Amino acid sequence: MRYDENNIFAKILRGEIPCKKIYEDEFILSFHDINPQKKIHALVIPKGKYIDLDDFTNKASKDEIVGLLKGISNVAEKLGVSINKGKGYRTLANINEHGGQEVPHLHFHIFGGEKVGRMVE
Ligand code: 5GP
Repeated sequence: MRYDENNIFAKILRGEIPCKKIYEDEFILSFHDINPQKKIHALVIPKGKYIDLDDFTNKASKDEIVGLLKGISNVAEKLGVSINKGKGYRTLANINEHGGQEVPHLHFHIFGGEKVGRMVE
């Protein structure tokens, strides 16, 4: 599958659509989900054009991979849900059809601010 340049997160990265930004660095952008499923629901996306986690793992540089993982921790810290600052959180990435992925640009969800509940519903 080819990366869709017109997916909604590509447009957010290009600044064509606004977002409620939480954090940004050379590797990632993080913003609040438009339709939050928990008190805190953030998204963390790599700046590179990767469709999903498999695409990212196969093609991204080591710096990009480290940058994304550290980015998730940094965002959790900023949101006050990291184990240093809060009571924890859940991060997950949906992948393709069976994973329920809607936007074809890799993104990690961060859920927190309350008990997140069952792992799969
Ligand atoms: P997925 O189902 O692909 O794992 O998650 C996509 C997420 O993107 C959903 O939680 C959805 O609410 C969120 N989303 C879709 N469009 C927008 C948008 O334009 N802005 C923001 N901030 N989030 C969006």
